Amino acid sequence: MMKKYIFFITILLLIGGGITLGINRSKQSVGTTKEKFTVVTTLFPLYDFVKNIGGDFVDVTLLLPPGVEAHSFEPKPSDIVRIDASDLFVYTGKFMEPWAEDIIKGVTNKNMQSVDASIGIDLMKLTPGMPDEANGLDPHIWLDFDNDKKMIHTLTSALIAKDPLHTAYYHNREEDYMEKFTVLDYKYKLSLENCATKEVIYGGHYAFGYLAHRYALEYLAAQGLAPDAEPTPRDLIKLVDQVKKNNIKYVFYEELTSPKIAETIAKETNAKMLLLNASHNVSKEDIESGVSFLDIMEANRASLTEGLQCE
Ligand SMILES: [Zn+2]
Repeated sequence: MMKKYIFFITILLLIGGGITLGINRSKQSVGTTKEKFTVVTTLFPLYDFVKNIGGDFVDVTLLLPPGVEAHSFEPKPSDIVRIDASDLFVYTGKFMEPWAEDIIKGVTNKNMQSVDASIGIDLMKLTPGMPDEANGLDPHIWLDFDNDKKMIHTLTSALIAKDPLHTAYYHNREEDYMEKFTVLDYKYKLSLENCATKEVIYGGHYAFGYLAHRYALEYLAAQGLAPDAEPTPRDLIKLVDQVKKNNIKYVFYEELTSPKIAETIAKETNAKMLLLNASHNVSKEDIESGVSFLDIMEANRASLTEGLQCE
């Protein structure tokens, strides 16, 4: 009796296994030829967004090598090959990556889709009085948490279009991830409500216009939209005078470049220095330690709360 029962169970298991194998096989032949599809993104925020939404079904890589400055980045032939071989290419927008549109036009892989993550987002003009550039539109859209939500939604739609089988999975992750930006935004509002000063003096390029606008801060940067141009002595003197006049205790410096401008201002004014990381890209150590965009924004909140002496 017992023997018969075990035999029956064994047969059931075998049939079950066979059916499962059959399903897997048909999935592989019918589906998009491989389990994970590949996404190449230009900047770190986009990379981290896709990783968070795509989870187990997306193989995402960052085009920028670790530590490389984003504005001066120009894709090498090998980068173009990587983009061409991908299923999805995500870039911030034509003001951040002016080279992207030409590459997309030249792509030979018919399966490759591209996503302009700035779709549906109003780009801000530079604050009057700031060093200007040709187009005068600020490409740092990811430094506004509402814009991040729009980008996350755009990216979710792109993943679903590529892989509709996992629509519910991507939607659930999108919802969970967006919730974290709602919480972060709320924490920023609370933290920056009561501060001794509203002036963010930045010894770097003009990157935090969106964030300053969102939380009603005043933002003065030593450089224009990209970190390659040296500030003029006149611009530096203006910043130093501003710090002295308003008795500002902290100046902020940017990631991945030499903090020498902030150091000069700090030395002249006895101000202390704090990192304010615009997270265009991350260092090799950051990649290895698995730092997230939300981690970086949380660290910025701590820096701002200390530097602006908020209660
Ligand atoms: Zn920038």
